[in-house]
Amino acid sequence: MEQHVRKRLSFLTSFWNKLWPNTVSADKPSQGYFDPAPVALRPDLEPDPVLPSSSLFSALYDFRARSAEELSVSRGDKLCVLKEEGEYVLARRLSGEATLGYIPANYVARISEETSHQLWYFSGVGRNEAQQLLLSPPNQHGSFLIRDSESSRGEYSLSVRNHDKVSHFRICKGPDGGLYIQKGQTFPNMEELLTFYTVNWKVVQSPLLQPCIPKTPPVRDGWERPRSEFTLGRKLGEGYFGEVWEGLWKNMVPVAIKIIKQADMKAEDFTKEIQNLKRLKHERLIQLHAVCSVGEPLYIVTELMRKGNLQNYLSSLEGRALSTLHLISIACQVADGMTYLEEQHIVHRDLAARNILVGDNLTCKIADFGLARLLKDDIYSTSGSTKIPVKWTAPEVANYRTYSLKSDVWSYGILLYEVFTHGQTPYEGMTNQETIQQIIMGYRLPRPSTCPPEIYIIMLECWKGNTEERPTFLALREKLCSIYRRVHNSLS
Ligand code: ATP
Repeated sequence: MEQHVRKRLSFLTSFWNKLWPNTVSADKPSQGYFDPAPVALRPDLEPDPVLPSSSLFSALYDFRARSAEELSVSRGDKLCVLKEEGEYVLARRLSGEATLGYIPANYVARISEETSHQLWYFSGVGRNEAQQLLLSPPNQHGSFLIRDSESSRGEYSLSVRNHDKVSHFRICKGPDGGLYIQKGQTFPNMEELLTFYTVNWKVVQSPLLQPCIPKTPPVRDGWERPRSEFTLGRKLGEGYFGEVWEGLWKNMVPVAIKIIKQADMKAEDFTKEIQNLKRLKHERLIQLHAVCSVGEPLYIVTELMRKGNLQNYLSSLEGRALSTLHLISIACQVADGMTYLEEQHIVHRDLAARNILVGDNLTCKIADFGLARLLKDDIYSTSGSTKIPVKWTAPEVANYRTYSLKSDVWSYGILLYEVFTHGQTPYEGMTNQETIQQIIMGYRLPRPSTCPPEIYIIMLECWKGNTEERPTFLALREKLCSIYRRVHNSLS
């Protein structure tokens, strides 16, 4: 009997322990050895003597750790919260294996009252919400919860699911603080009331089989960090979506912080840039470090590229001193990063020197993947509902908005032109409209005097009208790298 009841009604464990203090819980089969501490003598919580009770929390939902820093917990686990850090709390589990780690702050609740940490107690849930919760999976026949009464302050209601229907029962408080559903049947606390109606369930129309399971809130992913971890240094630049600052992460790691003016950015644009940044990892792509998306302004934190964007760099004093070999190295690095995007079937849509960042030792990385639209008016011209960087754009994009990896290849050809002219604007003196017309009529940019003929042949291949005839990034990388090796060997 005891074993059966313990198993079926495991949510009443502490009550069963009081009732049968000298036996081992049915959940834990006896191992055949003597347990020196009888279950009933073990407090439900084992508060650390130096801990204020206000730091005792209970897990509201199951949470599976995604990194070594995080702590997996099951709903109902008792925790001691050591510190609150933005969206997360650092907690120590008090039951089972005592381990330490981070848990989303919205996954835990402070234990304040007798009932508040019980799995069946749903604070702040009204009648309708209780009904919805109990009727949605994984809840089933026999799921129940206790909530605060909406009409009578200080009293409670029991909501219980009976197949497809939910019934509600007022739990009144007597003058002596006792609780009752039926007059004359009073209990000193909620646990005992529930135990009684678990056995005598006909009164509440359905057996009380398991406490209701709440809806699990979404967990912010591991990229999310509190804004307080970042300090801003100096402003590096400004783009359509906001300013970019050099800063420090935890006063140690130099980073670039893009501060997004949320009002100017559609949520979906932001999400798309972030999703791409999170998913893609390659040494020729700007690496995302963290995101602060709780509250405003939004921060996108990436690795710092000290020399800024390639367009400005090429025309700087240092950039103008670069040799042909250096310029070919830049072309190879960008082709390498684009080959990775090609393998991932990601279309950049805005490949241009302004979106390549330069670091120490002439390392180049692709930035702004996924953000093609909406940008500056002098470069991006409106046609239909979107704006496009006309002078970098393939004719099929200008005409029909058909973006593809092959339209990125066209833009790469323009980027080569920028590189081998040390940052000159393409089609200088022509308007966007004239550029489109000329391109359609077959006009192509002439070979810059500083550009080796074999590189110019590659540009022309990128600008083939027929997309099928344009090379892949893989082919471009192979060709450029072999030119680089040859030039390099001829110089050494
Ligand atoms: P838009 O966002 O309008 O496409 P953009 O790419 O120039 O334009 P941002 O990405 O906001 O705009 O960057 C603005 C400028 O800040 C860049 O041109 C570059 O000079 C600098 N910058 C951006 N990211 C970094 C970084 N990770 N490291 C160093 N400088 C950066």
